[in-house]
Amino acid sequence: MTHSDESDPFAARLDPATRRAARDRGGSAVVVGGAMAGLAAAHALQSLDWDVVLYERQPYAEKRVNCGEAMTDAESIPLPKTPEYGFAHSPPAFEVDVYTGDSDSRTLAGRGVFPSSNAYVTDRNVVEQRWAELLGQKGVDVRESTGVTKAEFRDFSDRFDLVVDATGQPSMASKVDGTTGEYAGRMTALNAEVAGDFSALYPNSRILFENYLGYAWAFPKSESRANVGIGWAQDNLPDDYYQSFVAACERNGWPVPDRSATNVYTIPRGPSLDPERTWDADRRVARVGDAAGVANRFTGKGISQAVESSYLLAELAAADRLDDYPDELYGRMKNEYRLAYIVRGALEDGRPDILGGVMDAVSGIDVEAVDREPKHAFSRLVRHPILLAKLAANPTMLSRLLDAYTDDWEFRAASA
Ligand SMILES: Cc1cc2nc3c(=O)[nH]c(=O)nc-3n(C[C@H](O)[C@H](O)[C@H](O)COP(=O)(O)OP(=O)(O)OC[C@H]3O[C@@H](n4cnc5c(N)ncnc54)[C@H](O)[C@@H]3O)c2cc1C
Repeated sequence: MTHSDESDPFAARLDPATRRAARDRGGSAVVVGGAMAGLAAAHALQSLDWDVVLYERQPYAEKRVNCGEAMTDAESIPLPKTPEYGFAHSPPAFEVDVYTGDSDSRTLAGRGVFPSSNAYVTDRNVVEQRWAELLGQKGVDVRESTGVTKAEFRDFSDRFDLVVDATGQPSMASKVDGTTGEYAGRMTALNAEVAGDFSALYPNSRILFENYLGYAWAFPKSESRANVGIGWAQDNLPDDYYQSFVAACERNGWPVPDRSATNVYTIPRGPSLDPERTWDADRRVARVGDAAGVANRFTGKGISQAVESSYLLAELAAADRLDDYPDELYGRMKNEYRLAYIVRGALEDGRPDILGGVMDAVSGIDVEAVDREPKHAFSRLVRHPILLAKLAANPTMLSRLLDAYTDDWEFRAASA
């Protein structure tokens, strides 16, 4: 794939004049953190002919990135969509089941089936490894197994035109500033790859809401292996994470993973950081991906958001408009934040009937469009008067609606 290749998902976003001007101007960037956000940033900046150094503290061959591993908007990733590159399979749809509870007597309260035209269940470590290899071949200076220290991070501002912080949460920039508490809201999630019979679900994937503040999922990679997991909001954690994961696997008919094969991670809830903090003009430090706090708080999806934030950053670098990054990023994300925040209210209020009704109403919309183009979901909801009446009669939903439309996000309390 060459720079001029219009099939490159980042290059195709720029008009030829902007691209030419950006290449003539040139620049240097250091990208700290080599997961999806960092790889996307390095890819985009390198395609502007910038000199790019990418640091990743783990060795790619051993990296444990076994998170949910469903990648939507996969076209934005410039790799062949084959198993060799980690794209295990493309599920035709994601099923979302809403149950009244997590006991044997639970009943189904609603169900959505969301077609996925451009999604894959991946071996994410393989995707990252291949993408890093490709970047190395194109001239990015990839330094894996190299953790950046706070002193080095500070020093980068004097040595590079742009410092991209793609270190997840809490980010390196927060550590350097001593402000790691500035991120608000998160979920704790357990997941594992398991072997078993997934033929009843495959080729689809499934997410389950079971009337606790969180969800569980099974993303089959084939008929005989899957990524399964469960996550809870921080203020609603069970006493024993692993036992709760075991119980979720048992009630949903999934193989129970060994404790040693189970990963524990934190999923941020966007917007979990004040957008103003995503760009430090004095130090020329920009945060992307989870470091910028952009993951979807309802679905837990953050990969396409991470890639989008990095491409946006590079697009603005190309146009010499980096100071616009916070506003542009927030502008792109805010409808997604609003929808996710409002719908999540049904979970927080223990209203599977409302959540089930929402799923029934929005069923059929492409899985990526639900998040990224929420107008489709909103326009479906207004066509369901009974559901709307229930939403309007619910104080939690109403106060969330107000919060979301007055931009009253939790990060204001976290950073106060
Ligand atoms: C259990 C779970 C399931 C999820 N499932 C999905 C899903 O199915 N689909 C989806 O879209 N999203 C999912 N998400 C969210 C998604 O994983 C994140 O939003 C995404 O990983 C963000 O990518 P990132 O590159 O910004 O950060 P991260 O993935 O957190 O990567 C940060 C990188 O920076 C490196 N790093 C950190 N510090 C340094 C340093 N000092 N020097 C050098 N390198 C450093 C780390 O090693 C790491 O590679 C899930 C999250 C969790 C926890």
